[in-house]
Amino acid sequence: MSERLAPGATVGILGGGQLGRMLAMAAAKLGLRARVFAPEADSPAFQVSEKPVCAPFEDIAALRRFAEQCGVITYEFENVPAHSLAVIEELRPVFPPRRALVSAQDRLAERRLLQACRLPHADFEFVAEAAALEPAFTALRGRGHATAYLKKLRHGYDGKGQLRLEGSQDIAAAQDWLGREAAILEAAVPFLFESSVIAARARDGDIVCYEPARNTHTHGILSESRVPSGLPERLIADAFAMTRAIMERLDYVGVIGVEMFAIGGDKPDSLVINEIAPRVHNSGHWTLEACTVSQFENHIRAVAGWPLGSAERHADARMVNLIGEEADAWADILAQAPHRSLHLYGKAETRPGRKMGHYCDLTPLNRAPSAES
Ligand code: AMP
Repeated sequence: MSERLAPGATVGILGGGQLGRMLAMAAAKLGLRARVFAPEADSPAFQVSEKPVCAPFEDIAALRRFAEQCGVITYEFENVPAHSLAVIEELRPVFPPRRALVSAQDRLAERRLLQACRLPHADFEFVAEAAALEPAFTALRGRGHATAYLKKLRHGYDGKGQLRLEGSQDIAAAQDWLGREAAILEAAVPFLFESSVIAARARDGDIVCYEPARNTHTHGILSESRVPSGLPERLIADAFAMTRAIMERLDYVGVIGVEMFAIGGDKPDSLVINEIAPRVHNSGHWTLEACTVSQFENHIRAVAGWPLGSAERHADARMVNLIGEEADAWADILAQAPHRSLHLYGKAETRPGRKMGHYCDLTPLNRAPSAES
């Protein structure tokens, strides 16, 4: 096991989005330096990075030079090519481990990981090519699932790379959409709400779990995360146990996000895992304000080989994403609530569906809600 980083050492971050930006700021808080490597020239994380490197992830020479100047390397999104990680692994420790990235990059590998951990996921069929879609749909229907999600194996996020099939009339269009790619066809889960657990695992195996959030998506993009989630204690314990099982199986180091569906009648009575993100996660942004040690700080502590901090929260929280033009109203958003915490990601261009910032409202525990929340 590699040595722990000393203050003043450099954490390399692959990926330059808002997650990388918030990781870099957490590193700076701890007296560590953050260096960002990303392909896009206007990456928001470059604004808070020491000597950023703008190059494609396929530029092995640039990656090698970058790695040599870092004490440890981490990543902020799951589409970094696995072979690029393999190259830098030869030079420096990389966390989370590559096997976690590989499992999260491919929906079939992700399902296989859940199966190996004996964890619940939606019923599915593998669709090797467009012609296999019809029999897969028939098979799912035969098992009582009328509606399904067709998910391309790779590069799916924020609802991209997936299509909902309401019935056999949708098959022809779905086959065109799929083209030559492989996919899984997954039964639609009749969930009460969506939830996620954010957890951190240290190099010595210590694990802390943040309380599950209740998540709302709009057009496949997370719009809001709240704690408490409304999950009963028993399911919170289940969610933690499932997250621990995944982290232990992967010998994980760093923060992970595990997305789940809460299912049941009137009230949730069980959980089904939807997706694993081997990185800090949008649904954990509330930890910046509601916890003493945020997901970003715990991720940096974990990859640096430092002791983790408590994941306990001291407030109820509601985190709201600002998507596209919603962020233009930042002045009104602030004026509405003086205790509101605002984050703007410094993105030069506003585009529909692009995450431009978020805000977080808190209600401290043991205190009545204030008039403005
Ligand atoms: P994903 O990219 O897999 O996280 O999916 C994006 C969103 O689509 C999820 O957050 C859910 O709202 C919805 N979704 C995906 N898969 C399913 C499913 N099997 N059943 C119901 N809703 C789903």
